[in-house]
Amino acid sequence: MKEQLQLLMRLQDIDIQVDQQEAILEQLPQELQEMARNLVSLRHEISETQETMASIEIELQTKESELTVEQEKIKRSERRLLNIKNIKEHEALSREIRLGKKVAGEIEEILLDLMNRFEQLKKALEKKQAEYSDCENTLVNKKTQSEKILLDATKALESLKAEQQKLAENVNKEHYKRYTMVRKQRGNAIAEMVNGSCDGCHIAIPPQMGLQVLRQLEFIYCPNCHRILYVKPENIPSPNGAQ
Ligand SMILES: [Zn+2]
Repeated sequence: MKEQLQLLMRLQDIDIQVDQQEAILEQLPQELQEMARNLVSLRHEISETQETMASIEIELQTKESELTVEQEKIKRSERRLLNIKNIKEHEALSREIRLGKKVAGEIEEILLDLMNRFEQLKKALEKKQAEYSDCENTLVNKKTQSEKILLDATKALESLKAEQQKLAENVNKEHYKRYTMVRKQRGNAIAEMVNGSCDGCHIAIPPQMGLQVLRQLEFIYCPNCHRILYVKPENIPSPNGAQ
């Protein structure tokens, strides 16, 4: 029975390590994928910002040439105004000039607004580009690291599984079945008895049952969580009654 218990404990140890390695193999690629997805969406945001900036630039050029046309028109009118003697004509042209200046002023406001928006987008773009290159570097580094980690995990898993199989073959079939069932439910199937309690579920073990656990002559299961109970050799009182 002691030997069987030790086999099961060793098996539990291996099983936990198998779970750990399998978790690495499952999670690491997921993390890498998540990071790659993040990069794609950043790249998308960057190109959207760049497109908006390009269209603002075109608008700026259009408005700038509109402003030039308007200003030249005003200058021409102002020159003509100097030579006009007729009062009515003079008034009409002055009105035209005032209107032209108003239009020019409006275009200038639009230009300022466009320039501000352009500057803001430029700042946002720089920030996103920096974030992108950070993420890209992190991903490249993580990819390099994970290649080794994944390789190690695969190798470790291979030898763990071989040992797992060997142990499983040597464990009594009934015990193994029960072990597997409890492990599936609870994550682990063997629990230490500490100070008369099951360390898996922390319930107090009835004293008579506790003694049986100490004797280690048969498998004793926790009445609450059904884990196999064991005690560390150093916690077993010596037979000559020292404790
Ligand atoms: Zn228990």
